[in-house]
Amino acid sequence: MSQYRVLDAAGVSDWLAADPRLRDGLGGARADWRVRDVADGNLNSVFLIDGPHGGVCVKQALPYVRVAGESWPLDVDRVRFEAAYFARVAPFVGKLIPTVYRFDPELRVLAMEKLEPHIILRKGLIAGDRYPKVAADVAEYVAQVAVHTSDLAAPFETRAKDISIFSQNLALQRISVDLVFLDPFTVSERNKILPALAPWAAALRDDLDLQCAVARFRIAYLTKAQSLLHGDLHSGSIMSTPGETKVIDGEFAWVGPSGFDVGNFIAHLVMAWFAKPFHGGDARHVADYREALEADIVEFWRRFRARFLEIAAPAAASGEALPASHFAGAGGARRLGELLTSYVDDILRDAVGFLALKMIRRIVGFAQVADFLVIADETAQATAKARALGFARSLLIEPKAYLQPGDLVAALKRFDAAGLAPSDRV
Ligand code: ADP
Ligand code: MG
Repeated sequence: MSQYRVLDAAGVSDWLAADPRLRDGLGGARADWRVRDVADGNLNSVFLIDGPHGGVCVKQALPYVRVAGESWPLDVDRVRFEAAYFARVAPFVGKLIPTVYRFDPELRVLAMEKLEPHIILRKGLIAGDRYPKVAADVAEYVAQVAVHTSDLAAPFETRAKDISIFSQNLALQRISVDLVFLDPFTVSERNKILPALAPWAAALRDDLDLQCAVARFRIAYLTKAQSLLHGDLHSGSIMSTPGETKVIDGEFAWVGPSGFDVGNFIAHLVMAWFAKPFHGGDARHVADYREALEADIVEFWRRFRARFLEIAAPAAASGEALPASHFAGAGGARRLGELLTSYVDDILRDAVGFLALKMIRRIVGFAQVADFLVIADETAQATAKARALGFARSLLIEPKAYLQPGDLVAALKRFDAAGLAPSDRV
């Protein structure tokens, strides 16, 4: 960390001014630049800088967890993995990520395309705004990456190289493993449990069927190295306008089970759904908005599945897993199609489990989501969370009941009638 120091607004301007390309992109002189601190994520510092010609976003890894403070140190090298992730997926996802202009490995700074007027999808969902393209765009994104970084589309050496890079992303994997797969199912100081949900926290810890299901997904996360994952693909890592979608914040990248990103995205739509009645608006608006979220969930699932199969079939010719010479003729093509279908359906089964885990960690774990936290009345917040927990537990305990997106949507409505207690089964 020889050159490393935390940059404030003036330091960011100095850094930009020292790079001719970035300086010219902004235009004017340093004194003409407007610098805004927009960090609202959990970990890093982020500035937006505008000059007479253009703007730029500068993200720097801090040597600690931003929301927790200096008492929780964190390796600044995580931004190296974010830069490597963006570079690796760019050929497949095109304009669905911001353009990266420069990575400074000493200062651990990433300069990228400034996204404006895009807003964080979570904020849009809480405000009750609609982003009609987001479900299809994220489905396309996840399908492209899940196919192209797997052995379906490339020689195994390619994935081995990804593993050799992203398996070093240990500081953030420790956070994921602790916060997603361990803390919520044990007693941990990091958990944040509303008093009214104490019986729920105990129920999560004491249910051995549930613990076994969680263990299976924990093992899958650690060992099922299918494809490169974003690793944190929720509504806080997506910036949108009604016409455009961008995925940001790839610092949790990891080679793992493809269903992880799929489940994570759905989990945050589901939490928006359970929180919606407590965000204000009349009954008509709430019902319409929830219907739109249900349509997003169904579209995302279907679109992911369809695009995965469309992309994988031709890609298989250059992949390790399903060599074309083994599947010649019409019969071969049919059997290849069956193998790919079972592969994608396995991803979706995993996604249902990860979906549940991603909800649970956001409801009783350390880093909770604004969808619920903005509900000021504590009983109301606990009620919304309890219903969501009931839904999530059901996905883990009865996975065979959730083989289609329509099954998820039907269950949302059932669990919306649940009370606060974990014994209130619906
Ligand atoms: P963290 O890793 O701390 O969660 P993020 O990458 O999510 O950091 O960024 C934090 C915030 O900075 C985002 O919520 C968003 O408001 C803003 N932001 C991040 N990247 C951009 C960008 N390219 N353009 C505009 N704003 C951005
Ligand atoms: Mg973030």
